[in-house]
Amino acid sequence: MVLVKDIKEFRSMPVRGLDRQVVWQFNQMSPGLLVSIDDLNINKGDGLLPFCQAAVRDALANFLKSYGKAITINNAYRSVIVQTVFWNNKNLAGGMVAQPGKSDHQNGVSIDIEEWPQIKDLLIKNGWQWTYGMKDSMHFDWTKGIEFIKDDTIKAFQALWNAANPGGQQLLVDGGMGDLANSKTFQCINNSPAEGFGGVGYPRTLCLTSPIQVGKDIGQLQLALRKAGIKLDTADQQFGPATDKAVKEFQTANSLAADGIISAEGETRKKLQPYLDGVASAASPSVIPNKK
Ligand SMILES: [Zn+2]
Repeated sequence: MVLVKDIKEFRSMPVRGLDRQVVWQFNQMSPGLLVSIDDLNINKGDGLLPFCQAAVRDALANFLKSYGKAITINNAYRSVIVQTVFWNNKNLAGGMVAQPGKSDHQNGVSIDIEEWPQIKDLLIKNGWQWTYGMKDSMHFDWTKGIEFIKDDTIKAFQALWNAANPGGQQLLVDGGMGDLANSKTFQCINNSPAEGFGGVGYPRTLCLTSPIQVGKDIGQLQLALRKAGIKLDTADQQFGPATDKAVKEFQTANSLAADGIISAEGETRKKLQPYLDGVASAASPSVIPNKK
């Protein structure tokens, strides 16, 4: 299993599974603070997670309307997971990297724009801050009508960790990182699976990997496949070749592409959901919303 600390790249995609779980958890605990920009007229850079604060989305939508063309956004909201990967690999990046817990991207107010040379002046005229100037030239911040949400992503991770490790180390859900050298939260982020935790919160993507995925969520998948009438002898909570074959059979039987992949929002999971609901009662830990 690849852990966050094992990732030696300055990219967010390798931790997208865990990242997505933290954002989902954030939205459960602090609904309405983060909104999607997926539907705006933007091109998405590699690894963009298309979320930001509502006031920032409004400002971006207004800008796009007056500009009349799509712009490319490389980064918007960043969870504490991605910020940790960037921090761990800061020697690979020429630019500045804020410490996990400190980045304005973690506040959902920043966007990095590929076409910055062409539109910098127009953005500034529209009220955007070119906060770091040439030192971080693609980075723009919106500062009006926003809230301070940097700590909420840390809280979300802490709650997720606790739910995923019911018998193990528990973290205080306080939204704090403290001094990184002594931070339990920072340690736990680094020791978390990059693909996300099995069986808690937002579902990780299930498929045949090497080493193979193990967990309660795989056990539920295996039982659900059987309920759906697919022949599968084992329910051993391990996504091995037999489970891969069973998933592909289920996909073929339901006129889906037989790729063996069950993503959180994909068609295969939608078709499987009634069967999964039937077996989910098997005491899987759920994440308890922790109101602030
Ligand atoms: Zn930036």
